[in-house]
Amino acid sequence: MEKRKPRTLAEPFRIKMVEPIRITTEDYRKEAIKKSGYNPFLLHSDDVFIDLLTDSGTGAMSDRQWAGIMMGDESYAGAKSWQHLESVVKELTGMPHILPTHQGRAAERILYGILGGKGKIFISNTHFDTTRANIEFTGATAIDVLPEEATHSEIDLPFKGNIDVGKVKTLIQEHGLSNIAAIIMTLTNNSSGGQPVSMSNIKAIREVCDENKLFLVIDGCRIAENSYFIKHREQGYENKTYEEIAKETLRLADAFVMSAKKDGLVNIGGLLTLRDEKISQQCTNLLIISEGFTTYGGLAGRDMEAMAIGLKEVFDPDYLHYRIRSTAYLGEHLKAKGVPVVWPIGGHAVYIDAKKLYKNILVDQYPGQALVCDLYIKGGIRCVEVGSVMFGKYDDNGKLIPAKNELVRLAIPRRTYTQSHIDYVIDVFDDILEMKEKNKGYKIVYEPPFLRHFTAQFEMT
Ligand SMILES: *Cc1c(COP(=O)(O)O)cnc(C)c1O
Repeated sequence: MEKRKPRTLAEPFRIKMVEPIRITTEDYRKEAIKKSGYNPFLLHSDDVFIDLLTDSGTGAMSDRQWAGIMMGDESYAGAKSWQHLESVVKELTGMPHILPTHQGRAAERILYGILGGKGKIFISNTHFDTTRANIEFTGATAIDVLPEEATHSEIDLPFKGNIDVGKVKTLIQEHGLSNIAAIIMTLTNNSSGGQPVSMSNIKAIREVCDENKLFLVIDGCRIAENSYFIKHREQGYENKTYEEIAKETLRLADAFVMSAKKDGLVNIGGLLTLRDEKISQQCTNLLIISEGFTTYGGLAGRDMEAMAIGLKEVFDPDYLHYRIRSTAYLGEHLKAKGVPVVWPIGGHAVYIDAKKLYKNILVDQYPGQALVCDLYIKGGIRCVEVGSVMFGKYDDNGKLIPAKNELVRLAIPRRTYTQSHIDYVIDVFDDILEMKEKNKGYKIVYEPPFLRHFTAQFEMT
Protein backbone atom coordinates (compact mmCIF):
# COMPACT_ATOMS: atom_id res chain seq x y z
CA MET A 1 0.00 0.00 0.00
CA GLU A 2 1.22 3.46 -0.83
CA LYS A 3 2.30 5.39 2.24
CA ARG A 4 0.03 8.34 2.89
CA LYS A 5 1.62 11.71 3.42
CA PRO A 6 1.15 12.99 6.96
CA ARG A 7 -1.80 15.27 7.45
CA THR A 8 -1.14 18.99 7.03
CA LEU A 9 -0.62 20.73 10.33
CA ALA A 10 -3.36 23.35 10.24
CA GLU A 11 -3.13 26.40 12.50
CA PRO A 12 -5.24 25.89 15.66
CA PHE A 13 -6.89 29.31 15.28
CA ARG A 14 -8.88 31.22 12.74
CA ILE A 15 -8.39 34.82 11.83
CA LYS A 16 -10.81 37.53 12.92
CA MET A 17 -8.77 40.64 12.22
CA VAL A 18 -6.24 41.16 9.46
CA GLU A 19 -3.23 43.41 9.07
CA PRO A 20 -2.42 43.90 5.37
CA ILE A 21 1.21 43.35 4.39
CA ARG A 22 2.69 44.72 1.20
CA ILE A 23 4.37 42.76 -1.56
CA THR A 24 6.91 45.04 -3.24
CA THR A 25 8.96 44.44 -6.41
CA GLU A 26 12.54 43.24 -6.44
CA ASP A 27 13.69 46.57 -7.90
CA TYR A 28 11.95 48.45 -5.08
CA ARG A 29 13.60 46.23 -2.49
CA LYS A 30 17.05 46.64 -4.05
CA GLU A 31 16.69 50.41 -3.59
CA ALA A 32 15.20 50.09 -0.08
CA ILE A 33 17.99 47.86 1.26
CA LYS A 34 20.65 50.05 -0.38
CA LYS A 35 19.15 53.13 1.29
CA SER A 36 19.28 51.22 4.60
CA GLY A 37 23.02 50.64 4.23
CA TYR A 38 22.31 46.93 3.61
CA ASN A 39 21.24 46.61 7.23
CA PRO A 40 17.71 45.18 7.62
CA PHE A 41 17.39 46.74 11.11
CA LEU A 42 17.22 50.09 9.30
CA LEU A 43 14.40 49.09 6.93
CA HIS A 44 10.89 50.45 7.39
CA SER A 45 8.63 47.61 8.49
CA ASP A 46 6.08 48.36 5.75
CA ASP A 47 8.77 47.58 3.16
CA VAL A 48 9.01 44.06 4.63
CA PHE A 49 6.71 41.25 3.48
CA ILE A 50 7.54 38.46 5.97
CA ASP A 51 9.25 39.76 9.12
CA LEU A 52 11.36 37.08 10.80
CA LEU A 53 13.69 39.51 12.56
CA THR A 54 12.61 38.36 16.03
CA ASP A 55 9.95 36.42 17.94
CA SER A 56 10.08 39.00 20.72
CA GLY A 57 6.85 40.93 21.19
CA THR A 58 5.87 40.32 17.56
CA GLY A 59 3.18 37.68 18.13
CA ALA A 60 -0.58 37.95 17.83
CA MET A 61 -2.78 38.10 20.90
CA SER A 62 -5.94 36.02 21.18
CA ASP A 63 -9.53 37.26 21.33
CA ARG A 64 -9.46 36.60 25.08
CA GLN A 65 -6.31 38.65 25.52
CA TRP A 66 -7.85 41.55 23.59
CA ALA A 67 -10.94 41.26 25.77
CA GLY A 68 -8.55 41.42 28.75
CA ILE A 69 -7.05 44.62 27.33
CA MET A 70 -10.51 46.21 27.50
CA MET A 71 -10.93 45.04 31.08
CA GLY A 72 -7.52 46.23 32.31
CA ASP A 73 -7.76 47.93 35.70
CA GLU A 74 -5.61 51.07 35.58
CA SER A 75 -5.58 51.75 39.32
CA TYR A 76 -2.14 52.86 40.47
CA ALA A 77 -2.00 50.38 43.34
CA GLY A 78 -3.54 46.97 43.92
CA ALA A 79 -5.30 46.80 40.55
CA LYS A 80 -7.48 43.76 39.76
CA SER A 81 -5.31 43.07 36.70
CA TRP A 82 -2.25 42.94 38.95
CA GLN A 83 -3.97 40.52 41.31
CA HIS A 84 -4.88 38.34 38.34
CA LEU A 85 -1.31 38.33 37.03
CA GLU A 86 0.17 37.75 40.47
CA SER A 87 -2.04 34.74 41.14
CA VAL A 88 -1.25 33.15 37.75
CA VAL A 89 2.50 33.65 38.24
CA LYS A 90 2.46 32.46 41.87
CA GLU A 91 0.76 29.27 40.78
CA LEU A 92 3.19 28.76 37.90
CA THR A 93 6.38 29.44 39.84
CA GLY A 94 5.43 28.45 43.38
CA MET A 95 7.31 31.58 44.48
CA PRO A 96 5.89 34.07 46.98
CA HIS A 97 7.45 37.29 45.63
CA ILE A 98 6.27 38.45 42.19
CA LEU A 99 7.61 41.65 40.61
CA PRO A 100 6.25 42.93 37.29
CA THR A 101 8.67 44.69 34.91
CA HIS A 102 8.31 46.35 31.51
CA GLN A 103 10.42 43.68 29.80
CA GLY A 104 12.94 40.93 30.51
CA ARG A 105 16.06 43.08 30.66
CA ALA A 106 14.54 45.25 33.40
CA ALA A 107 14.13 42.15 35.57
CA GLU A 108 17.75 41.26 34.75
CA ARG A 109 19.06 44.71 35.57
CA ILE A 110 17.37 44.65 38.96
CA LEU A 111 18.36 41.09 39.96
CA TYR A 112 21.92 41.11 38.62
CA GLY A 113 22.44 44.62 39.98
CA ILE A 114 21.95 43.08 43.43
CA LEU A 115 23.69 39.73 42.93
CA GLY A 116 26.51 41.08 40.75
CA GLY A 117 29.42 43.45 41.27
CA LYS A 118 33.16 43.51 40.65
CA GLY A 119 34.86 40.12 40.98
CA LYS A 120 31.59 38.16 40.89
CA ILE A 121 31.12 35.27 38.46
CA PHE A 122 27.89 34.11 36.82
CA ILE A 123 27.77 30.71 35.13
CA SER A 124 25.14 29.78 32.53
CA ASN A 125 24.38 27.28 29.76
CA THR A 126 24.48 30.44 27.62
CA HIS A 127 23.90 34.01 28.76
CA PHE A 128 21.54 35.79 26.40
CA ASP A 129 23.08 39.08 25.18
CA THR A 130 20.99 41.35 27.46
CA THR A 131 21.78 39.02 30.37
CA ARG A 132 25.51 39.23 29.70
CA ALA A 133 25.32 43.01 29.22
CA ASN A 134 23.50 43.52 32.53
CA ILE A 135 25.97 41.28 34.37
CA GLU A 136 29.07 42.87 32.84
CA PHE A 137 27.64 46.33 33.53
CA THR A 138 27.93 45.57 37.28
CA GLY A 139 31.61 44.66 36.82
CA ALA A 140 30.93 40.93 37.12
CA THR A 141 31.94 38.19 34.66
CA ALA A 142 29.58 35.93 32.69
CA ILE A 143 30.84 32.47 31.70
CA ASP A 144 29.01 30.13 29.28
CA VAL A 145 29.48 26.39 29.70
CA LEU A 146 27.90 24.40 26.91
CA PRO A 147 28.96 20.78 26.51
CA GLU A 148 31.43 20.36 23.63
CA GLU A 149 29.06 18.26 21.50
CA ALA A 150 26.41 21.00 21.59
CA THR A 151 28.67 23.37 19.68
CA HIS A 152 28.58 21.29 16.47
CA SER A 153 25.78 22.42 14.19
CA GLU A 154 24.84 19.03 12.74
CA ILE A 155 24.98 16.67 15.73
CA ASP A 156 21.45 15.44 16.42
CA LEU A 157 20.94 15.49 20.20
CA PRO A 158 17.64 15.92 22.06
CA PHE A 159 18.85 18.54 24.58
CA LYS A 160 21.55 20.64 22.99
CA GLY A 161 20.77 23.55 25.32
CA ASN A 162 22.05 21.72 28.43
CA ILE A 163 24.72 23.09 30.73
CA ASP A 164 27.94 21.08 31.23
CA VAL A 165 27.60 20.15 34.92
CA GLY A 166 31.17 18.83 35.16
CA LYS A 167 32.59 22.09 33.84
CA VAL A 168 30.43 24.05 36.31
CA LYS A 169 31.99 22.11 39.21
CA THR A 170 35.47 22.83 37.88
CA LEU A 171 34.67 26.54 37.52
CA ILE A 172 33.41 26.70 41.10
CA GLN A 173 36.72 25.28 42.30
CA GLU A 174 38.80 27.50 40.05
CA HIS A 175 37.09 30.76 40.98
CA GLY A 176 36.28 29.98 44.61
CA LEU A 177 32.77 29.38 45.86
CA SER A 178 32.41 32.81 47.46
CA ASN A 179 32.91 34.53 44.10
CA ILE A 180 30.10 32.69 42.31
CA ALA A 181 27.08 35.01 42.29
CA ALA A 182 24.59 32.64 40.65
CA ILE A 183 24.00 29.95 38.09
CA ILE A 184 21.60 30.91 35.31
CA MET A 185 19.73 28.35 33.24
CA THR A 186 18.33 29.82 30.02
CA LEU A 187 15.27 27.86 28.79
CA THR A 188 15.23 27.31 25.91
CA ASN A 189 18.80 28.22 25.17
CA ASN A 190 18.16 31.20 22.90
CA SER A 191 21.70 32.02 21.82
CA SER A 192 22.52 28.41 21.02
CA GLY A 193 19.63 28.07 18.57
CA GLY A 194 16.56 27.80 20.79
CA GLN A 195 17.73 24.35 21.88
CA PRO A 196 15.99 22.79 24.90
CA VAL A 197 17.34 21.87 28.33
CA SER A 198 16.35 18.56 29.94
CA MET A 199 14.75 18.23 33.35
CA SER A 200 17.54 15.91 34.47
CA ASN A 201 20.11 18.58 33.56
CA ILE A 202 18.24 21.21 35.59
CA LYS A 203 17.96 18.75 38.50
CA ALA A 204 21.68 17.99 38.31
CA ILE A 205 22.53 21.69 38.45
CA ARG A 206 20.08 22.13 41.37
CA GLU A 207 22.07 19.48 43.23
CA VAL A 208 25.29 21.37 42.61
CA CYS A 209 23.58 24.50 43.92
CA ASP A 210 22.33 22.66 47.03
CA GLU A 211 25.75 21.18 47.78
CA ASN A 212 27.41 24.58 47.50
CA LYS A 213 24.56 26.85 48.67
CA LEU A 214 24.50 28.59 45.30
CA PHE A 215 21.68 30.69 43.88
CA LEU A 216 19.88 29.25 40.83
CA VAL A 217 18.12 31.58 38.40
CA ILE A 218 15.92 30.31 35.59
CA ASP A 219 15.69 32.66 32.61
CA GLY A 220 12.44 31.16 31.38
CA CYS A 221 11.43 33.34 28.44
CA ARG A 222 10.52 30.16 26.56
CA ILE A 223 9.55 27.92 29.48
CA ALA A 224 6.48 26.54 27.66
CA GLU A 225 8.48 25.66 24.53
CA ASN A 226 11.08 23.95 26.73
CA SER A 227 8.32 21.98 28.47
CA TYR A 228 7.12 20.73 25.08
CA PHE A 229 10.54 19.28 24.31
CA ILE A 230 10.78 17.65 27.75
CA LYS A 231 7.40 15.95 27.35
CA HIS A 232 8.28 14.59 23.92
CA ARG A 233 11.96 13.78 24.41
CA GLU A 234 12.59 12.92 28.06
CA GLN A 235 11.61 9.67 29.70
CA GLY A 236 9.10 9.94 32.52
CA TYR A 237 7.36 13.08 31.24
CA GLU A 238 5.14 11.55 28.53
CA ASN A 239 2.04 11.70 30.69
CA LYS A 240 2.55 15.08 32.34
CA THR A 241 0.92 18.23 31.03
CA TYR A 242 3.10 21.06 29.72
CA GLU A 243 2.04 23.23 32.64
CA GLU A 244 2.95 20.51 35.14
CA ILE A 245 6.39 20.23 33.57
CA ALA A 246 6.89 24.00 33.70
CA LYS A 247 5.84 24.04 37.36
CA GLU A 248 8.22 21.20 38.19
CA THR A 249 11.02 23.08 36.41
CA LEU A 250 10.39 26.33 38.22
CA ARG A 251 10.18 24.63 41.64
CA LEU A 252 13.92 23.97 41.17
CA ALA A 253 14.83 27.66 40.93
CA ASP A 254 15.51 30.35 43.52
CA ALA A 255 14.53 33.09 41.08
CA PHE A 256 12.80 33.33 37.71
CA VAL A 257 13.24 36.09 35.14
CA MET A 258 11.12 36.26 32.04
CA SER A 259 10.58 38.38 29.00
CA ALA A 260 6.82 37.97 28.56
CA LYS A 261 7.33 39.12 24.96
CA LYS A 262 8.13 35.49 24.25
CA ASP A 263 6.04 32.81 26.00
CA GLY A 264 3.89 35.41 27.78
CA LEU A 265 2.24 35.85 24.35
CA VAL A 266 2.18 39.64 24.75
CA ASN A 267 3.80 42.56 22.96
CA ILE A 268 5.37 44.04 26.10
CA GLY A 269 6.04 42.85 29.65
CA GLY A 270 8.42 41.00 31.94
CA LEU A 271 8.65 39.27 35.29
CA LEU A 272 11.03 38.78 38.20
CA THR A 273 9.99 36.27 40.85
CA LEU A 274 11.85 35.21 43.97
CA ARG A 275 11.71 32.84 46.92
CA ASP A 276 13.97 34.76 49.28
CA GLU A 277 12.32 37.54 51.24
CA LYS A 278 15.47 39.63 51.78
CA ILE A 279 16.58 39.64 48.15
CA SER A 280 13.03 40.35 47.10
CA GLN A 281 12.94 43.43 49.36
CA GLN A 282 16.16 44.72 47.79
CA CYS A 283 14.75 44.08 44.31
CA THR A 284 11.49 45.79 45.23
CA ASN A 285 13.39 48.93 46.22
CA LEU A 286 15.14 49.02 42.84
CA LEU A 287 11.86 48.26 41.06
CA ILE A 288 10.18 51.26 42.65
CA ILE A 289 12.91 53.74 41.73
CA SER A 290 13.29 52.53 38.14
CA GLU A 291 10.21 50.66 36.89
CA GLY A 292 7.28 51.77 39.01
CA PHE A 293 5.22 50.75 42.02
CA THR A 294 5.22 47.07 42.98
CA THR A 295 1.77 46.36 41.56
CA TYR A 296 2.47 47.55 38.01
CA GLY A 297 6.25 47.77 37.47
CA GLY A 298 6.23 49.84 34.28
CA LEU A 299 3.16 48.19 32.78
CA ALA A 300 -0.37 49.37 32.18
CA GLY A 301 -3.11 47.38 33.92
CA ARG A 302 -4.27 46.16 30.52
CA ASP A 303 -0.78 44.81 29.73
CA MET A 304 -0.83 42.77 32.94
CA GLU A 305 -4.31 41.44 32.17
CA ALA A 306 -3.17 40.28 28.69
CA MET A 307 -0.05 38.70 30.21
CA ALA A 308 -2.05 36.81 32.85
CA ILE A 309 -4.19 35.32 30.07
CA GLY A 310 -1.21 34.67 27.76
CA LEU A 311 0.67 32.75 30.46
CA LYS A 312 -2.22 30.27 30.61
CA GLU A 313 -2.86 30.06 26.84
CA VAL A 314 0.76 29.31 26.06
CA PHE A 315 0.45 25.86 27.69
CA ASP A 316 -2.49 24.84 25.49
CA PRO A 317 -1.41 21.53 23.89
CA ASP A 318 -2.78 22.44 20.45
CA TYR A 319 -0.98 25.76 20.51
CA LEU A 320 2.36 24.31 21.63
CA HIS A 321 2.22 21.45 19.16
CA TYR A 322 1.52 23.87 16.33
CA ARG A 323 4.24 26.23 17.58
CA ILE A 324 7.04 23.70 17.72
CA ARG A 325 5.98 21.71 14.66
CA SER A 326 5.55 24.79 12.48
CA THR A 327 9.07 25.99 13.31
CA ALA A 328 10.38 22.50 12.53
CA TYR A 329 8.36 22.48 9.28
CA LEU A 330 10.37 25.43 7.97
CA GLY A 331 13.66 23.90 9.08
CA GLU A 332 12.95 20.43 7.70
CA HIS A 333 11.91 21.78 4.30
CA LEU A 334 15.01 23.95 4.06
CA LYS A 335 17.19 21.01 5.01
CA ALA A 336 15.53 18.83 2.37
CA LYS A 337 16.44 21.48 -0.23
CA GLY A 338 20.07 21.32 0.76
CA VAL A 339 20.16 24.48 2.86
CA PRO A 340 22.60 23.91 5.76
CA VAL A 341 20.55 24.42 8.94
CA VAL A 342 21.50 24.04 12.59
CA TRP A 343 20.12 20.68 13.64
CA PRO A 344 17.84 19.70 15.30
CA ILE A 345 15.48 22.64 14.86
CA GLY A 346 14.89 24.60 18.08
CA GLY A 347 11.67 26.06 19.39
CA HIS A 348 11.42 29.61 18.12
CA ALA A 349 13.74 29.92 15.16
CA VAL A 350 15.57 28.24 12.32
CA TYR A 351 19.30 28.96 12.06
CA ILE A 352 21.14 28.72 8.75
CA ASP A 353 24.86 28.15 8.51
CA ALA A 354 25.73 30.92 6.04
CA LYS A 355 29.42 29.99 5.84
CA LYS A 356 28.46 26.59 4.48
CA LEU A 357 25.87 28.08 2.11
CA TYR A 358 28.01 30.91 0.67
CA LYS A 359 31.23 28.94 0.36
CA ASN A 360 32.85 31.61 -1.83
CA ILE A 361 32.42 34.45 0.72
CA LEU A 362 35.19 34.83 3.30
CA VAL A 363 34.23 35.57 6.91
CA ASP A 364 35.55 39.14 6.67
CA GLN A 365 33.06 39.68 3.85
CA TYR A 366 30.24 38.54 6.11
CA PRO A 367 28.43 35.59 4.48
CA GLY A 368 25.56 35.95 6.99
CA GLN A 369 24.96 39.54 5.95
CA ALA A 370 25.00 38.41 2.32
CA LEU A 371 22.22 35.89 2.98
CA VAL A 372 20.19 38.38 5.00
CA CYS A 373 20.34 40.90 2.12
CA ASP A 374 19.58 38.29 -0.56
CA LEU A 375 16.52 37.09 1.37
CA TYR A 376 15.23 40.63 1.53
CA ILE A 377 15.95 41.46 -2.11
CA LYS A 378 14.53 38.20 -3.46
CA GLY A 379 11.57 37.77 -1.15
CA GLY A 380 11.00 40.80 1.09
CA ILE A 381 11.94 38.55 4.01
CA ARG A 382 13.66 40.20 6.97
CA CYS A 383 15.93 38.26 9.31
CA VAL A 384 19.12 38.79 11.27
CA GLU A 385 22.77 37.84 11.00
CA VAL A 386 24.14 36.05 14.07
CA GLY A 387 27.80 35.87 13.17
CA SER A 388 30.78 38.16 12.79
CA VAL A 389 28.66 41.27 12.23
CA MET A 390 27.02 40.69 15.60
CA PHE A 391 29.91 39.18 17.56
CA GLY A 392 33.10 39.92 15.58
CA LYS A 393 35.91 41.86 17.24
CA TYR A 394 39.13 43.42 15.93
CA ASP A 395 42.71 42.68 16.92
CA ASP A 396 45.27 45.47 17.50
CA ASN A 397 46.01 45.64 13.79
CA GLY A 398 42.35 46.12 12.92
CA LYS A 399 42.01 42.59 11.58
CA LEU A 400 38.67 40.88 12.17
CA ILE A 401 38.53 38.22 14.87
CA PRO A 402 35.51 36.34 13.54
CA ALA A 403 32.65 34.88 15.60
CA LYS A 404 32.48 31.12 16.24
CA ASN A 405 29.82 30.67 13.54
CA GLU A 406 28.30 32.64 10.68
CA LEU A 407 24.61 32.03 11.24
CA VAL A 408 21.41 33.65 10.03
CA ARG A 409 18.32 33.42 12.23
CA LEU A 410 14.79 33.12 10.91
CA ALA A 411 12.73 33.77 14.07
CA ILE A 412 9.07 32.85 13.96
CA PRO A 413 6.57 35.27 15.56
CA ARG A 414 3.86 33.43 17.53
CA ARG A 415 0.45 32.85 15.87
CA THR A 416 1.27 35.44 13.19
CA TYR A 417 2.08 33.82 9.87
CA THR A 418 0.22 30.95 8.19
CA GLN A 419 1.70 27.89 6.56
CA SER A 420 1.47 29.53 3.14
CA HIS A 421 3.66 32.38 4.35
CA ILE A 422 6.19 29.80 5.49
CA ASP A 423 5.87 27.90 2.18
CA TYR A 424 6.62 31.20 0.46
CA VAL A 425 9.80 31.58 2.54
CA ILE A 426 10.81 28.03 1.59
CA ASP A 427 10.24 28.87 -2.10
CA VAL A 428 12.44 31.98 -1.90
CA PHE A 429 15.34 29.70 -0.95
CA ASP A 430 15.19 28.21 -4.48
CA ASP A 431 16.34 31.61 -5.73
CA ILE A 432 18.98 31.82 -3.00
CA LEU A 433 20.43 28.44 -3.93
CA GLU A 434 20.46 29.42 -7.60
CA MET A 435 22.19 32.79 -7.18
CA LYS A 436 24.47 32.21 -4.19
CA GLU A 437 27.70 32.28 -6.21
CA LYS A 438 26.90 35.76 -7.53
CA ASN A 439 27.07 37.40 -4.11
CA LYS A 440 30.59 38.61 -3.30
CA GLY A 441 29.89 39.66 0.27
CA TYR A 442 29.85 42.99 2.08
CA LYS A 443 32.19 45.40 3.81
CA ILE A 444 31.36 47.61 6.78
CA VAL A 445 31.55 51.34 5.99
CA TYR A 446 30.18 52.62 9.31
CA GLU A 447 29.97 51.05 12.75
CA PRO A 448 29.30 52.28 16.28
CA PRO A 449 31.63 51.27 19.14
CA PHE A 450 29.26 48.63 20.59
CA LEU A 451 26.24 46.50 19.52
CA ARG A 452 27.23 47.38 16.00
CA HIS A 453 24.77 45.08 14.24
CA PHE A 454 21.87 47.41 15.03
CA THR A 455 23.19 50.46 13.19
CA ALA A 456 26.20 49.40 11.06
CA GLN A 457 26.18 50.37 7.36
CA PHE A 458 27.53 48.14 4.58
CA GLU A 459 28.53 48.23 0.92
CA MET A 460 28.75 45.37 -1.54
CA THR A 461 32.31 44.24 -2.20
C1 LIG B 1 14.48 38.25 25.02
C2 LIG B 1 15.31 37.66 26.08
C3 LIG B 1 15.72 38.40 27.18
C4 LIG B 1 15.49 39.90 27.30
O1 LIG B 1 14.14 40.24 27.30
P1 LIG B 1 13.61 41.63 26.72
O2 LIG B 1 12.13 41.55 26.95
O3 LIG B 1 13.98 41.70 25.27
O4 LIG B 1 14.24 42.73 27.50
C5 LIG B 1 16.44 37.75 28.17
N1 LIG B 1 16.75 36.44 28.07
C6 LIG B 1 16.38 35.70 27.02
C7 LIG B 1 16.73 34.25 26.95
C8 LIG B 1 15.64 36.28 25.97
O5 LIG B 1 15.27 35.53 24.93
